[in-house]
Order: sequence, then C-alpha cells, then structure tokens
Amino acid sequence: MIDHDVLIIGGGLAGSRAALSVAQNYPHLSVGLISKVHPIRSHSVAAQGGIAASLKNVDNDDWLTHAFDTIKGSDYLADQNSVQVLTQSAPEVIIDLEHLGVLFSRAEDGKIAQRPFGGHTYSRACYAADKTGHAILHELVMNLRRLGGTIYQEWYVMDLVYEDGTNGTEVKGVVAYSLETSQIEVFRAKAVLMATGGYGRVFNTTSNDLASTGDGLCLTANIGLPLQDMEFVQFHPTGLYPVGVLISEAVRGEGAYLINDLGDRFMANYPISKNRMELSPRDITSRNIACEIMEGRGINGGNYVYLDVRHLGREKILSRIPFAREEGLRLAGVDCIDHPLPVRPTAHYSMGGIPTNINCQVLGVDSQPIAGFFAAGETACVSVHGANRLGANSLLECVVFGKRAGEKLGEYVSDRPMPKIVSRPYLIDADTKLKRMLAKQGTSRIADIRQQLQDTMTEHCGIFRDDQRLKDGLQKIQTICDRYDHDLLVDDRSTVFNMELMQAIELRSLLTVGEIIMSSALSRKESRGAHSREDYPSRDDANYLKHTLGYVENGQVKTSDRPVDMSLQNIDRDRFTPQERKY
Ligand SMILES: Cc1cc2nc3c(=O)[nH]c(=O)nc-3n(C[C@H](O)[C@H](O)[C@H](O)COP(=O)(O)OP(=O)(O)OC[C@H]3O[C@@H](n4cnc5c(N)ncnc54)[C@H](O)[C@@H]3O)c2cc1C
Repeated sequence: MIDHDVLIIGGGLAGSRAALSVAQNYPHLSVGLISKVHPIRSHSVAAQGGIAASLKNVDNDDWLTHAFDTIKGSDYLADQNSVQVLTQSAPEVIIDLEHLGVLFSRAEDGKIAQRPFGGHTYSRACYAADKTGHAILHELVMNLRRLGGTIYQEWYVMDLVYEDGTNGTEVKGVVAYSLETSQIEVFRAKAVLMATGGYGRVFNTTSNDLASTGDGLCLTANIGLPLQDMEFVQFHPTGLYPVGVLISEAVRGEGAYLINDLGDRFMANYPISKNRMELSPRDITSRNIACEIMEGRGINGGNYVYLDVRHLGREKILSRIPFAREEGLRLAGVDCIDHPLPVRPTAHYSMGGIPTNINCQVLGVDSQPIAGFFAAGETACVSVHGANRLGANSLLECVVFGKRAGEKLGEYVSDRPMPKIVSRPYLIDADTKLKRMLAKQGTSRIADIRQQLQDTMTEHCGIFRDDQRLKDGLQKIQTICDRYDHDLLVDDRSTVFNMELMQAIELRSLLTVGEIIMSSALSRKESRGAHSREDYPSRDDANYLKHTLGYVENGQVKTSDRPVDMSLQNIDRDRFTPQERKY
C-alpha cells in the first residue's frame, strides 16, 4: 500500500494546479498525483484560445460583468456563488500563473494581451498565441516537480476505496494498476481529488483526446454517487471537417467569418445572433450551423460550412493563430491564408460532472459533502457553466478551483488521521477484474462496440433531441451494454503496456457516462443552453430552473434534482434575475 496525505487523480490543469497548491502551501504534507498519461499529455495541453479574466488591459472590464456574461451564457443555470468565486479570483490567478513562469502573449504596451471571445462583453481572454494550455500546463508540472510532488504517470485508477470510516462512509483512497508493469496497488490517502477531465469520446466526432473517456465520472457513479447536469454537452461550432479536431474560437476572436454555400455570413439571418454574429455563444452558433446544414446550405449541400480568415491577411494569421493554420494544412490539406476552412460542430466539453460545493467537496444526492472526496476541473460540476460554457472559462475554472481545492485539501487533512484500509481484498478484486477482462473471448472488437455507442449518442443525443429519439437511444445503449458484457473480444494478453486492456476498461466508462447523459436529457423537458429539445423548444424556468442529478441504483439510472444558487441577485437583482437570452 502506498500512502499520501493528499492524492490527486489527473495531471491536467485542474489536477496539477491542485497538487502544486498543496505543495506550495503545505510543504509538510505528502502529495501524490496519478495520471494514466504523462501529465503533460493531458488534454489540457491542447487548449488553444485563452483563459478569461477581467484584467482590464484592453477594456474597462470588471468581475461583475464577467459574472453576468457567464451566468447569461449559462442560460441562468450556473450556481451564482460559484461564478462569483470564479470571476472574482480570475485576475489574481492569472498574475499568479505569470509568476510561476507562464509566458503570455503581450500587448504593445507590454501588458498581457487579451482577445475577444464568444459571449464575453469585453476582450478578456489572455493567451499564449493559440497554445495557451501548453504554456500553462508545462509550468504547473515543472513547478510541481520542483517542489517535490510525487507523480505516478501511466497508472490507471480503476476503483475508489469507499467504505465505512470514522466519518460515516468515506473515500479512503484508490486502486490503480501500472500500465507499464501491470502491478496493482492500493493508494491510501486522507483525501482524494478527482480531476480526470471530460468524456468527449462518448461521441463520434470530438475535439477531445483519446484519454477523455469520463473515467472519474464512472468511478463516482459506480459508488452510487450522483452526476449533475450531464445532459449539457457542449458542441463546439468549429471542428475541422471531417476529422473533428478543434479550430479554436480564437480564430473567430481574431475576426473570422462563418459562410454558407450561398456565400452569406448566415449568423446575421438568425435574430438571436445578429448582433454578436460569429462571436455569439457556442450553443447558439453550433445550432445555427446545424440548421444551415439541415436546410441544405452546407457547402455544396454537404455536412459543413466555411470558416473564412482570408481577410485577416497572412501576417496576422501567422502571428495570432499559427496553430489553426498548421492544423488546416496538416489535417485537411487547406491553407487558410488562401482558402476557407471546412468546419462543423464537434463534441467538445462537459458542462456537467461530479457535483461539488465551492470548496470542491463532492456532494451526495442529499447535497451533503462526502468525507475524503473532492473534485475539480472538467470532471467536476461546481456549476460555473450551467447549461452552456463560454470559451476561455474552462481553463479559468481549472486554475481557480484547482488552486482552491489544493488549499482546502491542505486544511481538510491537517487534523484527519490516515484512514484504516485492509488492502488485500481490494488487490484480489482488482486482479480478478483484470484477469476476467483478459479472458474475454467473444466476437466483438472494442473499436466496433465503441463506434456503435458513439454513433448512437451522436444520432440520439446530439445537438437536437426529442423524447422518442432519446428513448430509442437508451434502448440501443442497453443492447450495446449486453454486447460488451457477453461478447467482447480482448486479444492482447501482454502485461506490458496492454493498451487493449485499458481501452476495454475505458469503454465501460463511456457506456456508463453515455447512459447517464441520455437519461438526464430525457428527464429535462425544456430547451436551455446546449440542451435543445425539439418537442419542448422553450426554456421553462417554472419547472426546470434546477440541476439534474443522475445516479445508478440497483443497476438502473435514476434522476432527481437540486436547486440553483441565485445569490448574486442580492448584489444586482436587475442583472442576475433570469431573462430571455438574446445577443
Ligand atoms: C482542443 C481543445 C481546446 C480547448 N481550448 C480551450 C481554451 O482555449 N480555453 C478554455 O478555457 N478551455 C479550452 N478547452 C477546454 C479545457 O482545455 C479543458 O476543459 C480542461 O483543460 C480540462 O482540464 P482537466 O484538468 O479537468 O482535465 P484534463 O486536462 O483532460 O486531464 C485529465 C487527467 O486525468 C487523467 N485521468 C483520466 N482518467 C484517469 C484514470 N482512470 N486513471 C488515472 N488518470 C486518469 C489523465 O491522465 C489526465 O492527466 C479546450 C479543450 C479542447 C479539447
């Protein structure tokens, strides 16, 4: 058994910021970080466009306007107390990143440059060209190593240790196996932080990396805890066609146009987006693109529209959005200096996740904190994004709540004894699970089952949804789960870097998460933010201004709800009371 005072699962922006915060503020505590990939290969490294903060370097911005934009963008579902923490802390965490060594791009006067982003009133996204995640993650991981945090890279967490303890049922650690050697270990800790990122791989077209399989969500659901607001899946408007990789919103921030087959900037044709045009929030922009395509105005009647930057000129393209140009060249054979890029919406971000309070403590169905268990980053739902996230607010969430989680974890474990665990049964159970998986000798390959799930999710729970499609989708998922349980084929028997074994376990996460997304979508009979029900096209505050909870009980997904925090109304009732969302 390996012991740490604090154990962090995930080495992306949220996990590494949290671990660093423990190491900085509580040097006497031991902090361990487990990641199934090398931490610098976490999806955070791919973040491009920026991180939002009302630094006021370009405009006369303030945190309350940032909060208002975020809450309006969320279609009023965000918890207002969480948004207050997010937006008030933003300037301070950016300066803090700079002190850690992050090289932000500069304005002419030498201050940190800021660019416009969809749904934000002012230019507030700080950036490092279009490689912002890369710049930040490197410094966090370097600093964590410098301060002595222990990193277990290429270890896969397969179970949570959740059992009776001195504070009722509590999280006491995790069970993980080394991808390199297949060695299984119990990691014991006074507190565990889940920071395992998103689940983009549930869908067939996604901007997410291969590791975004929702493992932390599944681990949490497996111990009977709820996931919150899972119906809210962000489809980013500009995935490069046909591969789906992201063309950053920074490209529209720098002035790109969206064009249909008639050559129109079609955003002007929709009343909801005619003022902000290409810089409308993502839910609206993605829906408009999907409508253009459905109504036959995709390019040559096909499944994509154009993103045009030619008018920006070569110099601006090369200095501000070099990576987007590189992607177009490499993956679509298009040089955006001379030709528009083909794009369509791609599954991008999870607004929902493991419910937490503002101190990152995980909440049960009764909204009470679970002892020893914390979550932060994309896998968590502290609910700053509600029904739709604004661009540049996710990196911010990871840094603000990652840092805060580290501080709270340090405080939390200070007077908490190391929990007692009998590790042997956990080791035997994990060993049996892995052996059983390796013994699967059915006829269905992992890739085929995964594809079937991804196609089902995209067809039945994509940008537009309705009752019948969702019910049919849920039935299909049942059939796919049966196929997984009874007909899976695992070929590879090796004990060194057996990627097939890992993918088989990840597929279980995708199935669980997919079913909870679909069930949550079925239960919300209204349209709000990214959740568009064709059978219930309006927002219904009287019945649905509340969070959805989806959890597994006796093998069935159940749903319930909890209230939304509206505390900013006390500061400015006119601004923060729900209104119709127009841009
Ligand atoms: C292409 C792209 C561009 C983006 N651009 C922006 C942007 O410009 N601005 C913005 O605000 N947001 C952006 N986002 C969103 C943002 O990058 C992510 O939401 C954020 O980085 C997530 O960070 P995280 O720390 O929560 O998770 P991740 O960075 O996804 O890290 C997850 C970690 O968990 C580990 N892990 C997962 N499962 C297990 C397991 N079973 N065992 C052990 N370890 C595990 C992984 O190894 C990894 O280290 C972008 C996202 C994408 C996909």
